[in-house]
Amino acid sequence: MNFEELTPVLMCCNNCGHKCIGYRARDETVRFECERCSLKMVSKKISNRVADVRITAPVGQSLF
Ligand SMILES: [Zn+2]
Repeated sequence: MNFEELTPVLMCCNNCGHKCIGYRARDETVRFECERCSLKMVSKKISNRVADVRITAPVGQSLF
């Protein structure tokens, strides 16, 4: 991963609501890790209206 091509994006954690910085790569993929609860999220843009989002829960927690 070339870190010079990453664009910082302000995001809100789906788990705890904390505002953190995610990073958008040139291929429109945004990677985000919450600094409070360590939830991980990867969002890949499919089209202008559709995004494919993968959320990984913190260790010891489950989604929903
Ligand atoms: Zn969080």
